[in-house]
Amino acid sequence: MTAPFPWPEGRRAAVAVTFDVDAESVMLAIDPALAERPSLMSHQRYGPVTGVPRLLALLAERDLRATFFVPGATAERHPDAVRAIAEAGHEIGHHGFEHESLLGRSREEELEILRRGLDALERAAGVRPRGYRAPWWELGAHTLALLEELGFAYDSSLFERDAPYRVGGIVEIPVSWAFDDWERYAFWPEITGSGVIARPSEVLEAWWEEIDALAEVGGCAVLTMHPFLSGRPARARALGALLDRILDRGDVWVATCGEIADHAARVLPGVSP
Ligand SMILES: [Zn+2]
Repeated sequence: MTAPFPWPEGRRAAVAVTFDVDAESVMLAIDPALAERPSLMSHQRYGPVTGVPRLLALLAERDLRATFFVPGATAERHPDAVRAIAEAGHEIGHHGFEHESLLGRSREEELEILRRGLDALERAAGVRPRGYRAPWWELGAHTLALLEELGFAYDSSLFERDAPYRVGGIVEIPVSWAFDDWERYAFWPEITGSGVIARPSEVLEAWWEEIDALAEVGGCAVLTMHPFLSGRPARARALGALLDRILDRGDVWVATCGEIADHAARVLPGVSP
């Protein structure tokens, strides 16, 4: 058994509160023709239009900072929402341009997507992200090498450990489908979801169990939510209750992915700070 990850100030575990602001992009990546379906597009727009302001207020009430992974196309369609996220002091990470799949892409194609995403975030919110999350958590064959070349500090799309680790010269902040709200809440007939939509209180309890067990092994919980899903009132209320419980236990470090990556770079051998 490996030693528990050395979290700062003797904390036993870390929790990163993260949101993927996919909005319309995740559907348009599946099929650009879906742009012709106003109701589906509106379902996705709930994220930047209604979910983001609610979630920003929820985080501000608790004085917490989160990481928002934003596709470049979302930044172009919803610059005000992305600016509001940045202005509230949250971290913005790269999440592709149009949430496109990277599978089978050449190095040049991957580089072009990364650059388009960087340019869009710079134009919309004046930010240069230090972190990356692949659309659908599916890195391409060249992504990690390109992230390092472009000076990214971390990726958050891999799965093999409970706590941050080194991949190449950058930090990996590993994820788990258990913490993805898509599997709990998403539904659109014939496009996504089983039609069984979880009770928010059940999601709260499931995630609490996961976090409690991760704390026992010194791990890192990466809550992965989408404003169009977790920004709805009952779900946001459950998230607030979960965050209050986490804060009350006192032995868990709630931090942005960037803060976790910086700490990991200090304690992991072979990562350039
Ligand atoms: Zn996404």
